[in-house]
Amino acid sequence: MASKPKFQAIRGTRDLLPPDTALWNRVEQTAHEVFSTYGFGEIRPPIFEATELFARGVGGDTDIVSKEMYRLEDLPEDQSARDLAYLQLMIHSGSVSSAYPDQLAEFVGRVQRFIEGYKVARQRELVYHTDSTDRRLQYIESHLEGLSALQNEPYDAKYQNKFDETVNYFKVEIRDLGLTEPKVLRPEATASVCRAYIEHNMQQMPQPVKLYYMGPMFRRERPQKGRYRQFYQIGAEILGGPDAPAIDAELIEMLMTFFDKCGLQGSELSINSIGHAADNCRRGYVAKLREELLKVKDKLGADSQRRIETNPLRVLDSKLEHEQPIIAALPRIADYLCDECKTHYAAVKRDLDLRGVQYRENWRLVRGLDYYMRTTFEITAQGLGSQNAVCGGGRYDGLVELLGGPPTKGIGFAIGEDRLILSLQETIRASGSDSPLGTSHSPLLFIAWMGDEAYAAAVRAAKNLRNAGFRVELPATELKFGKALERASKLGSRFALILGDNEVQSGEWTLKNLATSEQQKLSEQALLEYLRSL
Ligand code: AMP
Repeated sequence: MASKPKFQAIRGTRDLLPPDTALWNRVEQTAHEVFSTYGFGEIRPPIFEATELFARGVGGDTDIVSKEMYRLEDLPEDQSARDLAYLQLMIHSGSVSSAYPDQLAEFVGRVQRFIEGYKVARQRELVYHTDSTDRRLQYIESHLEGLSALQNEPYDAKYQNKFDETVNYFKVEIRDLGLTEPKVLRPEATASVCRAYIEHNMQQMPQPVKLYYMGPMFRRERPQKGRYRQFYQIGAEILGGPDAPAIDAELIEMLMTFFDKCGLQGSELSINSIGHAADNCRRGYVAKLREELLKVKDKLGADSQRRIETNPLRVLDSKLEHEQPIIAALPRIADYLCDECKTHYAAVKRDLDLRGVQYRENWRLVRGLDYYMRTTFEITAQGLGSQNAVCGGGRYDGLVELLGGPPTKGIGFAIGEDRLILSLQETIRASGSDSPLGTSHSPLLFIAWMGDEAYAAAVRAAKNLRNAGFRVELPATELKFGKALERASKLGSRFALILGDNEVQSGEWTLKNLATSEQQKLSEQALLEYLRSL
């Protein structure tokens, strides 16, 4: 057995190789074409962003943010990097100032470990430092002692004052250490698109603004088929303007048109409305759901039991076999929607019918975050096993505001491109037919040349044919004709162009069809015309 190579792609990442990449490119080209016919423009946000953008935009207590983000820190030690990120987040989000005594020990511990990590980084010249940063570090250390002493004090106004004062002090000192803000590889791009909308004042443009993106995302998930740590998404967002049901319906129509043009088969669109975060709508439902879940708590698994408190809607996502009959009997959100949300949902469905978009309603399709509202949807496809969701999307009217922008309506989706490609490849394999997008990478024409003069003619011919858009293989060294034809077949070429002394002298070149072995003589001009006529 061959020994393992020294370097391999990191677990959860992979090389995309030809001929597969041809399919990737065609899928992406199809997205560019379809989305532009719906008036979308492409945005290319950076691949790393401030940690806080996702902490806010995706939600600090989601798995994605709490466990799966790849941090890019200035500090080398993993633990101190985490401590720094924690400190900066707590300080920036203001949550430290309300810390209770039981959080104090942890906070002090974090700062201590941060200081240790910083010192290591400083020794290794990994962080920028001067006399003044050294002094700041000493200040932080001495104030930390004071904070630590608070642990023995009663929790009263004096305690709180002292705590707030020290934290404010840390805020300035840590900032002035000159460490940059914590950054992560993006786990998704909706938050980036919203950030860009705010940053570039896009609310001044005609609304709504329609943007799409494609590119790699990063999540530290457990890798399996259809689940990677670097994966690719193609997504679109509509920001600003009204929340008219026609916007939701047109976005979904565009998505299904795109899938259709890609030749995706066995796809199923599920839709739902999750109302909005108000007592007479989703909040009322969640309260009722929690109440019902508490009644059956003992019959649920550990995850679901925990979610009754943290996020009862997520219980509906459960795939556990024994929980299914219990979930089926739970109250459904459709019965708790407020009148406006109900009307909106009915209008979205009517509009989808009008557009001939087929869908299935799934009342268990939910999102766990407050700013998600009303329309949610998901598309599953065949050939993917348990990871069969190729696209998720929904309305998120509160997100731009949450990120510091003006109140702005928003809706979007993200397609898992890896899964889309897997499903397309599965279809191609099963049917034995070619994808409607085609994947052929093999040269159309292989030039079998012999002799210096023939080589000169071959170089010129190859350049002209390639300019005309044909795929041409020109061997770099002279091959005997037999070998040349063998190589041409191996590469899957359709034709071999035979160029020897005779052909060069007569100006009549020999074109051999490798499938039928038929040969014909053609002038260079006639050859071009013939290939064009195919
Ligand atoms: P999400 O951003 O979690 O709503 O995911 C949107 C789509 O991205 C999913 O429906 C999947 O198709 C795809 N996706 C999410 N996570 C991964 C992953 N780790 N590997 C491959 N595809 C993923």
